[in-house]
Amino acid sequence: MEVVRLVARVAVNGFGTIGKRVARAVMLQDDMELIGVTKTRPTYEAIIANRDGIPLYTVDEKQQKQFSEQGIKVEGTLQELLTKVDIVVDCTPGGTGEKNKKLYEEAGVKAIFQGGEEHEIAGLSFNAFATYDHAYGKRWARVVSCNTTGLIRTLYPLDRVFGIEDAFAAIIRRGADPAESKGSALNAVEPDLEIPTHHGHDVRTVLPWVNINTMAAKVPTTNMHVHCIRVKLKKTGVTARDVLSLWDQMPRIRFVSGKHGIKTSGQIMEIARDLGRHSGDFAETIVWEDGTGVEDSTLYYYQAVHQESDVIPENIDCIRSMMELERDASRSIRKTDRSLGIIK
Ligand code: NAD
Repeated sequence: MEVVRLVARVAVNGFGTIGKRVARAVMLQDDMELIGVTKTRPTYEAIIANRDGIPLYTVDEKQQKQFSEQGIKVEGTLQELLTKVDIVVDCTPGGTGEKNKKLYEEAGVKAIFQGGEEHEIAGLSFNAFATYDHAYGKRWARVVSCNTTGLIRTLYPLDRVFGIEDAFAAIIRRGADPAESKGSALNAVEPDLEIPTHHGHDVRTVLPWVNINTMAAKVPTTNMHVHCIRVKLKKTGVTARDVLSLWDQMPRIRFVSGKHGIKTSGQIMEIARDLGRHSGDFAETIVWEDGTGVEDSTLYYYQAVHQESDVIPENIDCIRSMMELERDASRSIRKTDRSLGIIK
């Protein structure tokens, strides 16, 4: 008997920091096909898309002249692209997805939005550990932001196994992405004066029962975000070793150690490059093994989040769940991680 393999036809709208990584990750999946990506301007990323054989579309017809003047091949408009796909991953700048949703509605396609949009855009915030099942077969979902993804990855297993009484995270945010020329001050630390910051609220869009609050400050680095986290556990007698062995069993959590000379986010990025990770990305949440301690049932730890890449495997699992390509979250996570070289 012939085996019918289901393949999801995927578009990526917005080919910037997140979009180009999602597009590449889709191309690595045997149950997905990248049908095309959109760009608004004929920048070097458009030239790379042409070079790599990624079908390129513009958002509207007017933009096409600019592309052809630069010798960049364009297949059509976003509207045309949407007629050829089952699902679109919207990777446009925060707030743009809200306007795009009407286009997706009219085209009858499913859509995934990113963390720059509000939870209400989809009514479903996605993290592969926690809400894979909720997204199964759904029309809309939003993959939560890089910081929220990082927080959920370590908090979710803690809550499942030991219970969380309450949690607090101080988030040291990178000032800008490496390719950006705007962002934080060059020589200053900028506290986020929204108290508490939105990150805790965002964790609760996925884990509504977890009592977490956050504060944040932007610093002049492009490397990674670093979180200083305190968690009051419900279970008594838990040791740092118990916590570390729990996280060790989880995918997408990786340990580093100051004893091995890994003391900064810059050194973590160097490991990613040494491992030959594409674009020097590190999609796992990185926990300092020797910066993890428990005192009186209160856990303290530091973790680092590579903002440009930690949400990429989540987008792939989200497509797989919404397109009903795999029922089981663990199997999807394993498949995604193998394809992206995220191996423990
Ligand atoms: P980006 O600015 O790097 O990329 C956005 C791309 O969309 C650019 O290529 C831009 O030209 C294009 N664009 C602009 N308007 C468009 C439109 N109307 N239609 C189609 N394309 C359009 O932004 P990014 O950092 O990739 O962020 C995208 C989303 O991902 C945001 O919601 C953001 O909050 C979220 N996110 C970003 C990061 C990060 O650290 N960069 C991490 C996690 C989530």
